Amino acid sequence: MADIKQLPTRDQVNPKLTWDLTPIYQDGQAFNQDFDEVTKQINALPQLEGTLSHGAKELVKVIEAIMNTIRPAEKLYVYASLKHDQDTSDADNQALSGRTQSLLTKLESHIAWFEPELLAVDPATLDQWLKTETTLKPYEHYLRTITDNREHVLTPAAEKLLAQAGDALSASSNTFGVLNDADLEFPVVEDDDGGTVQLSQGVYDQLIQSTKPEVRKMAFKQLYAVYHQFRHTLAATLSGNVKTHNFEASVHHYRDARQAAMSANHIPESVFDSLVTSVNDHLPLLHRYVALRKQILNLSDLHMYDLYTPITGEPQLSYTFEEAKAEALKALAVLGPDYLSHVQEAFDSRWIDVVENKGKRSGAYSSGMYDTAPYILLNWQDNLESLFTLVHEMGHSMHSYYTTHNQPYQYGDYSIFVAEIASTTNETLLTDYLLKKYPDKQVQAFVLNHYLDGFKGTVFRQTQFAEFEHYIHEQDAAGQPLTAEFLSQYYLALNQKYYGKAVISDPEIADEWSRIPHFYYNYYVYQYATGFAAANTLAQRVTSGDTAKRDAYLNYLKAGSSDYPINVMQQAGVDMTQTGYLDQAFAEFEKRLNQFEALAKTM
Ligand SMILES: [Zn+2]
Repeated sequence: MADIKQLPTRDQVNPKLTWDLTPIYQDGQAFNQDFDEVTKQINALPQLEGTLSHGAKELVKVIEAIMNTIRPAEKLYVYASLKHDQDTSDADNQALSGRTQSLLTKLESHIAWFEPELLAVDPATLDQWLKTETTLKPYEHYLRTITDNREHVLTPAAEKLLAQAGDALSASSNTFGVLNDADLEFPVVEDDDGGTVQLSQGVYDQLIQSTKPEVRKMAFKQLYAVYHQFRHTLAATLSGNVKTHNFEASVHHYRDARQAAMSANHIPESVFDSLVTSVNDHLPLLHRYVALRKQILNLSDLHMYDLYTPITGEPQLSYTFEEAKAEALKALAVLGPDYLSHVQEAFDSRWIDVVENKGKRSGAYSSGMYDTAPYILLNWQDNLESLFTLVHEMGHSMHSYYTTHNQPYQYGDYSIFVAEIASTTNETLLTDYLLKKYPDKQVQAFVLNHYLDGFKGTVFRQTQFAEFEHYIHEQDAAGQPLTAEFLSQYYLALNQKYYGKAVISDPEIADEWSRIPHFYYNYYVYQYATGFAAANTLAQRVTSGDTAKRDAYLNYLKAGSSDYPINVMQQAGVDMTQTGYLDQAFAEFEKRLNQFEALAKTM
């Protein structure tokens, strides 16, 4: 019997491989001091209620009082959440995190009056203030992001009523969460080693990648059998959630839920439409990739449960974390010496929590705020996948670094729409680097497949989700009941359209809509697809050797929220309202598919 791997406890981990949080707070006492100070500031904020309409100077005073409170509160939040994640079983950390959460909730409720009061200022008066008061000028874009949607904001009384109904309106979404995360019980299935394992969402994600067809088939069949049993309940929760989006859009005078969701981030709807059109035009490429998968796996029939198993085996590449750091620096060198110096700083200043320990949060992320370093949480394994994760999270952290060092506090963050572009660009640069560096066929095949699978899962699959999401919102608005039968029928047809004839659309997949948490996020998924495609164009520009193009990229990293996301990307060299950048991404996918096909013939 194999030894069961024991994870170290937190205090057994080499400190060099942990993040150093002392630059945020030297110790618990320093945290507590700041906590008390911020609490006082929060308690004083309601005194400002009703004053901002008195004049431009008063408005500046209110904005600055609020920001001067949020800013240190964010520092508390980063410290508490990182502490919590490094060992979630630690009772002190849990308490720290709980206290901070309550403080932030209080802060939110103490500034809830700000937006309605600002919107109550006559637009001509506000324009006048902006013209004459120089201390207000630095906040102009910040104010515009709030006042742009003025016509969609109701009276303070009506908004208050809606806010009070918030818990009731999110009941469907919460019910889905509880059912999906806690109540659904899955059977015991066979695992990879011939033993048995209790099926769960996490176990399913592993088993569906099994190299044994029977294992992934049984995991698939058993998981969907459970969802099928609850399909009417899950249709009701999804329908309730869609109705909430449609209701909120309608009462705020939006044409539909999509317009409401996208205008909240100031993204033109043409971005969504261009994506869906372009992906549909390029579906034959996905069909080709899937057919190649079938051929390499040597299967007479390719099922939906055969889409995640690795088709190239593990490459002959492994990295210790030390080796990975050196490799990351080489792969990212095209971004220039300044960028590299900050990556080096991240390594040298211990911004990264590297290895697993008992109780540490799983996965990986980048997290930081204006007055903290952009920390990175990893659960390092000595393989290529971890190297990709490292450069991905480093992309987020460098984006944060450049933003906070080039923007004033009010523009010192960035929207989700642009966030994944920085991380994916780094992954694309790593892919380019590895393909150039390693002629070995096994490595080439692995890297190409990693890219093609990433493209499939991000550009094609998320657009399939986006199409589904938009369709069900439209149907609900038109009075169509969103029953399980209706949802499954459409989903199956959509799935067949996306994957084509090479895949058998197993009947179970018709219920896939019932288990996707992202369908509760309100027009969120399309951004994964647009971000991946935009990163492709940007990586090509960066590697072109033209320093002006590289600088345009760095300017995007520096821009923060000083302009609307779509303008920031335009300046960086990608017009996301048109299909050009998508065509470019599909051309790259096709090129690499050709390479992979050619390589597969020789292996
Ligand atoms: Zn990311």
